[in-house]
Amino acid sequence: MSEPAGDSKLEVKQASKEVKESENVAEKYSAMTVSKNSEMNMGELSSVFSAVPTHKPVKKQIQFVEDKQEFSRFPTKAGRRSLSRSISQSSTDSYSSAASYTDSSDDETSPRDKTQVNSKGSSDFCVKNIKQAEFGRREIEIAEQDMSALISLRKRAQSEKPLAGAKIVGCTHITAQTAVLIETLVALGAQCRWTACNIYSTQNEVAAALSETGVAVFAWKGESEDDFWWCIDRCVNTEGWQPNMILDDGGDLTHWMYKKYPNVFKKIRGIVEESVTGVHRLYQLSKAGKLCVPAMNVNDSVTKQKFDNLYCCRESILDGLKRTTDVMFGGKQVVVCGYGEVGKGCCAALKALGAIVYVTEIDPICALQACMDGFRVVKLNEVIRQVDVIITCTGNKNVVTRDQLDRMKNGSIVCNMGHSNTEIDVASLRTPELTWERVRSQVDHVIWPDGKRVILLAEGRLLNLSCSTVPTFVLSITATTQALALIELYNAPEGRYKQDVYLLPKKMDEYVASLHLATFDAHLTELTDEQAKYLGLNKNGPFKPNYYRY
Ligand code: NAD
Repeated sequence: MSEPAGDSKLEVKQASKEVKESENVAEKYSAMTVSKNSEMNMGELSSVFSAVPTHKPVKKQIQFVEDKQEFSRFPTKAGRRSLSRSISQSSTDSYSSAASYTDSSDDETSPRDKTQVNSKGSSDFCVKNIKQAEFGRREIEIAEQDMSALISLRKRAQSEKPLAGAKIVGCTHITAQTAVLIETLVALGAQCRWTACNIYSTQNEVAAALSETGVAVFAWKGESEDDFWWCIDRCVNTEGWQPNMILDDGGDLTHWMYKKYPNVFKKIRGIVEESVTGVHRLYQLSKAGKLCVPAMNVNDSVTKQKFDNLYCCRESILDGLKRTTDVMFGGKQVVVCGYGEVGKGCCAALKALGAIVYVTEIDPICALQACMDGFRVVKLNEVIRQVDVIITCTGNKNVVTRDQLDRMKNGSIVCNMGHSNTEIDVASLRTPELTWERVRSQVDHVIWPDGKRVILLAEGRLLNLSCSTVPTFVLSITATTQALALIELYNAPEGRYKQDVYLLPKKMDEYVASLHLATFDAHLTELTDEQAKYLGLNKNGPFKPNYYRY
């Protein structure tokens, strides 16, 4: 995990250069009216990108785990039926998690073994049940209500078709909100093939609704690990269709294409990556000189990181916990591992309910923030015997070990909010002396020989997306950022983006935010000429330098 000293010096140099350029660039936007009425056509959009200095690659900022972990989930020779926990186990549970309202079906047949055809005669998809399409359509319509900014972008750009000719392969959570994004991309001219980035988070009815309209979706809730990679492969490996853009969440699709289809991968015009984890992996490829495609790091856009990671988790952590366990939080002792954006959101929600919240951190800055916010910062071992709930939010691996799980008290709950299922060492619980009892969909009691039970949620996969819904409005912000990043990468003239990882310009972040202000009838204060001069800003933004942390 240690970074060579030389690299950190480079980071500092790079950062200060960007700051200077960002200040110089402010004047270039005098004609833009983004913050005021959000009217920006695609040509302007492109010019915004071309003028902003963040085209310079952002050098690796974050350390991350070894690459080996990335491919540990490839299909094994044993085949899908023998892998981990089977699909049927969750699909037959009568208690259906909120992530999908239709998966209490008794149909145990794997979608891979079914032949399904949509109403237009196409069978180029693989979902749980195409007959759920109408119900899924209603879910999508509900989501559209709270995604008005994305819909307004769709309406504005629909006639220009800025994604005409784009063949986008996507790997994200397949939810009603993602469906609104996918249908926006289609409305803007793109062809899309889609798969799920998580084996539990697919809303089956939404996958069906998308397949019904002609989007080739390969995903269902409760895939096995083998299904997961099969679905990715079916998205990419199809006759007569070659993707030229990637929209990824977690980096699995990107790495699958990079390893399995290097020739197709080389021809990709751009990758848009949404998650911390996927961004880490892109920087890793870039650092090794192996990234042959320009990529946009959407995760570190302010409008993604400060909203999706923080506010989304603040709203959905309790939903996931309550739906699965019915637990009351007042007075409960909870430890949250990691006080980044996700951890901050979880802690705020738990504190508001009267829980006693402890935080673990490796970073002194985040630890100090936790202290100032009123949380006790501890080592996990100091509280492991007394806490009622452990929530991991680090993006790291083995944050909760078997040894620690052995010491948790009877009835305690353990769950994860980070992207990967490696934060809790779940594999170490699959030993003969421990009994697993599935008590609800996504809820396992792991029972020790002395009768002690630990309640494991979603088998250590991210809780909110597996066991609850997430707030649509926040996802609209991320989806709008993703759509703009795709438009920009697809339309950028050759040479604007090199084979590296880029941040979206600040101006774009401000644009995405401004599109969403209308929902609140929020009225921005305009700088006077005198004030703008005093602050050295353009009246229309950007309003903050790139180094500003919000
Ligand atoms: P972040 O980098 O802001 O925060 C992670 C924090 O964990 C950091 O402060 C880091 O110092 C700390 N940490 C790392 N290893 C640790 C350890 N062993 N013990 C204690 N602390 C440790 O990242 P984030 O934006 O908070 O995202 C965290 C994870 O959540 C990522 O995997 C991300 O993909 C995922 N995520 C989930 C959701 C969701 O809806 N559940 C939303 C956004 C992001």
